[in-house]
Amino acid sequence: MQAEFLGVGEACDETLPNTSVLVRCEGDPPRRILLDCGFTAPPPLFASLPDPEALDAVWISHFHGDHIFGLPLVLLRMWESGRRRKLIFAGQEGITDRIRQIAELAYPGLEAKLGFKLEVKELGSGQSAHFLDLTWTAAQTLHSRRNLALRLENDGASLYYSGDGPASAESEDMARDCGLMIHEAYTAGQDRIPGHATVPECLDLARRTGASSLALVHLQREERRRYGEELKEWLDGFEDISAFLPEPGEMHTVEQGSR
Ligand SMILES: [Zn+2]
Ligand SMILES: [Zn+2]
Repeated sequence: MQAEFLGVGEACDETLPNTSVLVRCEGDPPRRILLDCGFTAPPPLFASLPDPEALDAVWISHFHGDHIFGLPLVLLRMWESGRRRKLIFAGQEGITDRIRQIAELAYPGLEAKLGFKLEVKELGSGQSAHFLDLTWTAAQTLHSRRNLALRLENDGASLYYSGDGPASAESEDMARDCGLMIHEAYTAGQDRIPGHATVPECLDLARRTGASSLALVHLQREERRRYGEELKEWLDGFEDISAFLPEPGEMHTVEQGSR
Protein backbone atom coordinates (compact mmCIF):
# COMPACT_ATOMS: atom_id res chain seq x y z
CA MET A 1 0.00 0.00 0.00
CA GLN A 2 1.31 3.41 -0.93
CA ALA A 3 0.09 6.89 -0.06
CA GLU A 4 0.64 9.67 -2.56
CA PHE A 5 0.16 13.14 -1.11
CA LEU A 6 -1.64 15.01 -3.91
CA GLY A 7 -2.23 18.00 -1.66
CA VAL A 8 -1.20 18.82 1.89
CA GLY A 9 -2.68 22.30 2.38
CA GLU A 10 -5.57 23.81 4.32
CA ALA A 11 -8.65 25.42 2.77
CA CYS A 12 -7.21 28.87 1.93
CA ASP A 13 -3.60 28.03 1.03
CA GLU A 14 -2.60 29.78 -2.20
CA THR A 15 0.35 27.51 -2.93
CA LEU A 16 -0.48 24.04 -1.61
CA PRO A 17 -3.50 22.10 -2.90
CA ASN A 18 -6.09 21.03 -0.28
CA THR A 19 -5.16 17.96 1.68
CA SER A 20 -5.91 14.94 -0.50
CA VAL A 21 -4.22 11.54 -0.57
CA LEU A 22 -4.23 8.91 -3.30
CA VAL A 23 -3.91 5.41 -1.85
CA ARG A 24 -2.45 2.89 -4.30
CA CYS A 25 -2.64 -0.85 -3.66
CA GLU A 26 -0.73 -2.88 -6.24
CA GLY A 27 -2.77 -6.09 -6.25
CA ASP A 28 -4.61 -7.80 -9.06
CA PRO A 29 -6.60 -5.75 -9.81
CA PRO A 30 -4.77 -2.69 -8.48
CA ARG A 31 -6.87 -0.38 -6.27
CA ARG A 32 -6.83 3.42 -6.27
CA ILE A 33 -8.61 5.29 -3.52
CA LEU A 34 -8.80 9.03 -3.10
CA LEU A 35 -9.01 10.38 0.44
CA ASP A 36 -10.86 13.71 0.36
CA CYS A 37 -11.40 15.94 -2.64
CA GLY A 38 -11.45 19.67 -1.89
CA PHE A 39 -11.63 22.71 -4.20
CA THR A 40 -8.02 22.40 -5.40
CA ALA A 41 -7.50 18.61 -5.30
CA PRO A 42 -8.65 17.71 -8.86
CA PRO A 43 -5.68 19.08 -10.90
CA PRO A 44 -3.02 17.02 -9.06
CA LEU A 45 -5.36 14.00 -9.20
CA PHE A 46 -5.75 14.36 -12.99
CA ALA A 47 -1.97 14.71 -13.36
CA SER A 48 -1.24 11.65 -11.24
CA LEU A 49 -4.05 9.44 -12.55
CA PRO A 50 -4.90 10.53 -16.11
CA ASP A 51 -6.77 7.30 -16.95
CA PRO A 52 -10.49 8.10 -16.33
CA GLU A 53 -11.18 4.46 -15.35
CA ALA A 54 -8.36 4.15 -12.82
CA LEU A 55 -9.98 5.51 -9.67
CA ASP A 56 -12.00 2.95 -7.66
CA ALA A 57 -13.33 5.00 -4.75
CA VAL A 58 -13.41 8.35 -3.03
CA TRP A 59 -13.55 8.72 0.75
CA ILE A 60 -15.03 11.97 2.06
CA SER A 61 -14.17 12.66 5.71
CA HIS A 62 -16.67 15.53 6.10
CA PHE A 63 -18.63 18.13 4.17
CA HIS A 64 -16.37 21.20 4.40
CA GLY A 65 -15.49 22.60 0.96
CA ASP A 66 -11.77 21.88 1.22
CA HIS A 67 -12.67 18.18 1.55
CA ILE A 68 -15.58 17.71 -0.88
CA PHE A 69 -15.98 20.61 -3.33
CA GLY A 70 -13.59 19.11 -5.90
CA LEU A 71 -16.00 16.26 -6.60
CA PRO A 72 -18.11 17.96 -9.32
CA LEU A 73 -14.98 18.59 -11.36
CA VAL A 74 -13.78 15.01 -10.95
CA LEU A 75 -17.20 13.75 -12.12
CA LEU A 76 -17.25 16.21 -15.03
CA ARG A 77 -13.86 15.05 -16.28
CA MET A 78 -14.79 11.38 -15.92
CA TRP A 79 -17.97 12.01 -17.93
CA GLU A 80 -16.07 13.97 -20.56
CA SER A 81 -13.43 11.23 -20.83
CA GLY A 82 -16.06 8.51 -21.26
CA ARG A 83 -15.63 6.58 -18.02
CA ARG A 84 -17.76 3.37 -17.86
CA ARG A 85 -16.69 1.74 -14.62
CA LYS A 86 -18.65 2.11 -11.37
CA LEU A 87 -17.24 4.64 -8.88
CA ILE A 88 -17.66 4.15 -5.15
CA PHE A 89 -18.17 7.00 -2.70
CA ALA A 90 -17.66 6.26 0.96
CA GLY A 91 -18.28 8.44 3.97
CA GLN A 92 -20.76 9.37 6.65
CA GLU A 93 -24.55 9.34 6.61
CA GLY A 94 -25.95 11.91 4.18
CA ILE A 95 -23.10 11.64 1.67
CA THR A 96 -25.42 10.63 -1.20
CA ASP A 97 -27.53 13.79 -0.91
CA ARG A 98 -24.50 15.99 -0.44
CA ILE A 99 -22.77 14.71 -3.60
CA ARG A 100 -26.00 15.11 -5.58
CA GLN A 101 -26.49 18.67 -4.35
CA ILE A 102 -23.01 19.93 -5.15
CA ALA A 103 -22.82 18.14 -8.51
CA GLU A 104 -26.20 19.59 -9.50
CA LEU A 105 -25.19 23.10 -8.42
CA ALA A 106 -21.93 22.98 -10.35
CA TYR A 107 -23.18 21.22 -13.52
CA PRO A 108 -26.98 20.83 -13.69
CA GLY A 109 -27.99 17.47 -15.15
CA LEU A 110 -24.51 15.98 -14.87
CA GLU A 111 -25.46 12.98 -12.76
CA ALA A 112 -28.07 11.81 -15.29
CA LYS A 113 -25.52 12.03 -18.12
CA LEU A 114 -22.81 9.95 -16.44
CA GLY A 115 -22.04 6.77 -18.32
CA PHE A 116 -21.19 4.97 -15.07
CA LYS A 117 -22.84 4.11 -11.77
CA LEU A 118 -22.19 5.84 -8.49
CA GLU A 119 -22.30 3.46 -5.55
CA VAL A 120 -22.36 4.84 -2.02
CA LYS A 121 -21.07 3.13 1.11
CA GLU A 122 -22.20 4.87 4.27
CA LEU A 123 -20.25 4.24 7.44
CA GLY A 124 -21.25 5.23 10.94
CA SER A 125 -18.76 6.00 13.68
CA GLY A 126 -17.40 2.70 14.99
CA GLN A 127 -18.51 0.76 11.91
CA SER A 128 -16.42 -1.34 9.54
CA ALA A 129 -17.03 -2.55 6.01
CA HIS A 130 -15.07 -4.66 3.56
CA PHE A 131 -14.92 -3.73 -0.12
CA LEU A 132 -12.26 -3.35 -2.83
CA ASP A 133 -10.14 -5.93 -0.93
CA LEU A 134 -9.77 -3.47 1.94
CA THR A 135 -11.26 -3.14 5.39
CA TRP A 136 -12.65 0.32 6.05
CA THR A 137 -13.33 1.46 9.62
CA ALA A 138 -14.56 4.90 10.66
CA ALA A 139 -14.60 6.89 13.91
CA GLN A 140 -15.74 10.42 14.64
CA THR A 141 -13.16 13.07 15.60
CA LEU A 142 -13.66 16.39 17.40
CA HIS A 143 -14.16 18.80 14.49
CA SER A 144 -16.65 21.70 14.10
CA ARG A 145 -18.55 19.65 11.55
CA ARG A 146 -19.14 15.92 11.90
CA ASN A 147 -15.92 14.32 10.63
CA LEU A 148 -14.99 10.66 10.34
CA ALA A 149 -11.42 9.47 10.57
CA LEU A 150 -10.73 6.37 8.47
CA ARG A 151 -8.63 3.28 8.99
CA LEU A 152 -7.83 1.36 5.80
CA GLU A 153 -6.27 -2.08 5.93
CA ASN A 154 -5.17 -4.74 3.49
CA ASP A 155 -2.61 -7.54 3.66
CA GLY A 156 -1.41 -6.34 7.03
CA ALA A 157 -0.75 -2.77 5.88
CA SER A 158 -2.78 -0.15 7.71
CA LEU A 159 -3.30 3.53 7.24
CA TYR A 160 -5.13 6.04 9.43
CA TYR A 161 -6.42 9.27 7.91
CA SER A 162 -7.83 11.83 10.32
CA GLY A 163 -9.72 14.18 8.04
CA ASP A 164 -10.13 17.25 10.28
CA GLY A 165 -10.16 17.48 14.05
CA PRO A 166 -8.27 16.13 17.05
CA ALA A 167 -8.79 12.47 17.89
CA SER A 168 -11.66 11.34 20.11
CA ALA A 169 -11.30 8.35 22.44
CA GLU A 170 -12.97 6.28 19.73
CA SER A 171 -10.72 7.41 16.88
CA GLU A 172 -7.63 7.02 19.07
CA ASP A 173 -8.63 3.43 19.73
CA MET A 174 -9.12 2.86 16.01
CA ALA A 175 -5.67 4.31 15.25
CA ARG A 176 -3.78 1.75 17.29
CA ASP A 177 -0.67 0.22 15.67
CA CYS A 178 -1.16 1.62 12.19
CA GLY A 179 1.66 1.68 9.68
CA LEU A 180 1.03 5.25 8.58
CA MET A 181 -0.94 7.91 10.40
CA ILE A 182 -1.89 10.89 8.25
CA HIS A 183 -3.10 13.59 10.61
CA GLU A 184 -4.20 17.17 10.20
CA ALA A 185 -2.18 19.59 12.32
CA TYR A 186 -3.47 23.10 11.85
CA THR A 187 -0.99 24.75 14.18
CA ALA A 188 2.70 24.04 14.73
CA GLY A 189 2.97 24.93 18.42
CA GLN A 190 0.81 24.55 21.51
CA ASP A 191 -1.78 27.17 20.47
CA ARG A 192 -4.85 25.29 19.45
CA ILE A 193 -7.55 26.44 17.07
CA PRO A 194 -10.86 24.91 18.23
CA GLY A 195 -11.75 21.87 16.15
CA HIS A 196 -8.20 21.30 14.93
CA ALA A 197 -5.13 19.44 16.15
CA THR A 198 -1.63 20.78 16.82
CA VAL A 199 1.69 19.22 15.79
CA PRO A 200 2.61 18.26 19.41
CA GLU A 201 -0.83 16.65 19.90
CA CYS A 202 -0.39 14.59 16.73
CA LEU A 203 3.05 13.43 17.83
CA ASP A 204 1.67 12.41 21.22
CA LEU A 205 -1.20 10.55 19.57
CA ALA A 206 1.11 8.74 17.12
CA ARG A 207 3.41 7.67 19.97
CA ARG A 208 0.56 6.59 22.25
CA THR A 209 -1.05 4.51 19.52
CA GLY A 210 2.22 3.01 18.24
CA ALA A 211 2.09 4.37 14.68
CA SER A 212 5.17 3.48 12.62
CA SER A 213 5.05 6.76 10.66
CA LEU A 214 3.27 10.07 11.00
CA ALA A 215 2.57 12.47 8.13
CA LEU A 216 1.44 15.94 9.21
CA VAL A 217 -0.86 17.70 6.77
CA HIS A 218 -3.34 20.64 6.64
CA LEU A 219 -0.92 22.96 8.46
CA GLN A 220 -2.21 26.54 8.42
CA ARG A 221 -0.51 28.42 5.54
CA GLU A 222 1.26 31.11 7.62
CA GLU A 223 2.44 28.51 10.10
CA ARG A 224 3.82 26.37 7.29
CA ARG A 225 5.59 29.34 5.70
CA ARG A 226 7.05 30.46 9.00
CA TYR A 227 7.92 27.16 10.63
CA GLY A 228 7.85 24.56 7.83
CA GLU A 229 11.59 24.12 7.35
CA GLU A 230 12.30 24.27 11.07
CA LEU A 231 9.59 21.69 11.68
CA LYS A 232 11.02 19.33 9.07
CA GLU A 233 14.44 19.44 10.72
CA TRP A 234 12.93 18.93 14.14
CA LEU A 235 10.86 15.93 12.99
CA ASP A 236 13.91 14.44 11.24
CA GLY A 237 15.67 14.31 14.59
CA PHE A 238 13.24 11.82 16.18
CA GLU A 239 14.44 8.25 16.42
CA ASP A 240 11.37 6.59 17.91
CA ILE A 241 8.98 7.60 15.13
CA SER A 242 9.29 8.54 11.49
CA ALA A 243 7.41 11.84 11.42
CA PHE A 244 7.40 14.14 8.41
CA LEU A 245 5.77 17.08 6.70
CA PRO A 246 5.07 15.80 3.18
CA GLU A 247 5.28 17.94 0.06
CA PRO A 248 2.68 17.62 -2.71
CA GLY A 249 3.55 14.70 -4.99
CA GLU A 250 5.45 12.83 -2.29
CA MET A 251 4.87 9.07 -2.15
CA HIS A 252 5.13 7.01 1.03
CA THR A 253 5.08 3.22 1.36
CA VAL A 254 2.76 2.18 4.20
CA GLU A 255 4.47 -0.21 6.59
CA GLN A 256 2.80 -3.26 8.07
CA GLY A 257 1.00 -2.34 11.27
CA SER A 258 1.40 -4.67 14.23
CA ARG A 259 -2.32 -5.21 14.82
ZN1 LIG B 1 -13.12 20.86 8.18
ZN1 LIG C 1 -10.06 21.08 6.23
